[in-house]
Amino acid sequence: MDNTTLLATLRRRHPSRFARHAAVNVGPGWHGIIVDLLARIDRLLSPEEVLVIHAIHGADGTLSMISLAHGGTAAAVRTLFDEARAEAARRCECCGRPGIPHQVGEGTRIRCHEHTEANDG
Ligand SMILES: [Zn+2]
Repeated sequence: MDNTTLLATLRRRHPSRFARHAAVNVGPGWHGIIVDLLARIDRLLSPEEVLVIHAIHGADGTLSMISLAHGGTAAAVRTLFDEARAEAARRCECCGRPGIPHQVGEGTRIRCHEHTEANDG
């Protein structure tokens, strides 16, 4: 699945959670983590609680999310996101198998043994 398809799928499942110009840009190995994160957020939040996601991306081997929510909602979402980020730190961005940080080009990426040299997350 590419990121365009992932975002379209997430918008269908969670129509109120993404800003109009939201962007999702993570390696295919992390797509399942994002799908699970959104499902967990929807189970946690009441329908009245507003969360608007503007961006989810991988930055130097770390899962990152830019979103807007109010006080208690933001804190609850932060807890779930921190768990997703910890999971991503252990998963190859290419394939989702167990991985560790590797230097790839100018930056750091999470890679399994097989994808150590892969440049395209
Ligand atoms: Zn891999």
